[in-house]
Amino acid sequence: MAGNRTFTMVKPDAMEAGNAGAIIKMIQEAGFKIVAMKMTKLSEERAGQFYAVHKERPFYKDLTAYMSSGPIIAMILEKNNAVEDFRKLIGATNPAEAEEGTIRKLFAKSIEANAIHGSDADETAAQEGNFFFAETERF
Ligand code: GDP
Repeated sequence: MAGNRTFTMVKPDAMEAGNAGAIIKMIQEAGFKIVAMKMTKLSEERAGQFYAVHKERPFYKDLTAYMSSGPIIAMILEKNNAVEDFRKLIGATNPAEAEEGTIRKLFAKSIEANAIHGSDADETAAQEGNFFFAETERF
């Protein structure tokens, strides 16, 4: 059975462009409940830990530099079928391939600076939520 929680970050490019409010509004209007939320900034080391799965990829160093370049907003979200539905809402990794009306189509600047993160599976959603939030920070 599909889980009912996912994890997201509004990434530095969207924060810098002042799009966090519009993005959070889209998330809520799509039926996701915000269970946890914080604005914070990753160090390059912590960004590297978060994206450790991509360690061998050629873009890893760029990605960790970018993800630590400014603040982000991290959130745990709740909805039936959360992971899959949220991936549909954000669209493809490369905004050039993202469907009309998706968050990345509307707000992403490039394949790297693509506005928003969304977990790819229930297990990673749980791990990523734990990376940012204590139990006392979830409502
Ligand atoms: P996601 O699950 O859609 O976020 O995509 P991935 O897990 O494949 O990649 C993680 C993040 O790395 C993406 O959201 C982008 O910010 C970045 N990224 C992915 N592919 C590339 C690439 O080919 N070049 C660069 N520079 N960044 C990439």
